[in-house]
Amino acid sequence: MSSFCVIGSGISGATIANLLNKRHTVDLYDKARGLGGRSSFKRLDNLRGFDHGTQYFSPKTTEFKRFTKKLIEKKILKIWGGNHKFLSDKKKENKKHTKVIGRKGNNDISKYLLKNVRCYFQSELKKINFQNRKWNLVFNDGEIRNYENLILTCPFPQLKKLSKKYIKNSFIREKIKMDANITILIEIKKTNLGYSSFLFNDRILGWAGYENSKKRFKSKSDLWTLQSTFNWANKKINQNKVLKKTNAKILIDKFFKLTGIKQTKILFSLNHGWKYSSNSKPLKLKSYWNSRLNLGVCADWFNGPRLESGWISANDLYKKINS
Ligand SMILES: Cc1cc2nc3c(=O)[nH]c(=O)nc-3n(C[C@H](O)[C@H](O)[C@H](O)COP(=O)(O)OP(=O)(O)OC[C@H]3O[C@@H](n4cnc5c(N)ncnc54)[C@H](O)[C@@H]3O)c2cc1C
Repeated sequence: MSSFCVIGSGISGATIANLLNKRHTVDLYDKARGLGGRSSFKRLDNLRGFDHGTQYFSPKTTEFKRFTKKLIEKKILKIWGGNHKFLSDKKKENKKHTKVIGRKGNNDISKYLLKNVRCYFQSELKKINFQNRKWNLVFNDGEIRNYENLILTCPFPQLKKLSKKYIKNSFIREKIKMDANITILIEIKKTNLGYSSFLFNDRILGWAGYENSKKRFKSKSDLWTLQSTFNWANKKINQNKVLKKTNAKILIDKFFKLTGIKQTKILFSLNHGWKYSSNSKPLKLKSYWNSRLNLGVCADWFNGPRLESGWISANDLYKKINS
């Protein structure tokens, strides 16, 4: 039995921690307040909440389909039904796909996988150092913690910053570009529009998901999650912190215009900028394992832009660690 430190509680970190925890001592750390990473759920209270990262997933591989089916049977996940409106020609094929969501929020998979794993939140890994066959890890509280093995699941630019010294040159030199996304959560008065989501054909607004249609709560008002296009967010993301209100207004105005909903008072809104949302160009490698340093990396960006990509990467890493 050896000790593993896993960084990140998104699908990749939760999956690898769950697998390793069966045979090893595992501690998981995340810099965020809660779990789920880019599949986190923003709960306002018992009646209001938003999936502000992953909207839904549509399993593609046989293995992930099997995993999803098991979680639907266990009532952790469910199908998101209703009327999904596709206004974009490009993604018409997505129309047929089953849309799977968490029963309570899209971080439900991470919650399920991590229920027996020791997790520490608001714990950011700042520096790593390998000495005498041990990882000395410096966290934001100033403490140094030691582990035999280290698994990183951060978005690529963050990984590069943290572990440049230890990761093979050819791998770290890959030009992995992660697109940004600007997401706006809004609450408006009830409209009874009859749609669960919109996929737009627009330069600025990409998507709107109607949270009430996920049937997780009975809110008296309507809750929508609006997501920008990648192209627009890539241009705006660096200034988003100072232009939060302006960018939110642009996306909200677009939403009313494109859906035909009458402009109404915004009861609540929140602008969340994702600097590293997803990578649309998969690598040849599915995960990275260095058995000399006991250093592993798994993340969605190895395999593509989806939650399933992270799950595949974590399973691949687990096989490498055990081979
Ligand atoms: C706006 C948006 C919409 C999306 N929509 C969809 C969708 O509809 N369907 C779909 O399948 N996918 C979607 N995705 C992609 C999906 O969210 C990701 O593919 C998936 O969540 C990635 O999981 P991960 O575990 O690899 O990474 P992450 O979820 O990013 O997990 C990494 C974790 O590491 C933590 N971390 C990073 N650095 C440190 C550090 N130094 N110390 C401690 N912790 C650290 C982070 O806080 C984070 O929790 C979307 C993503 C975004 C941003």
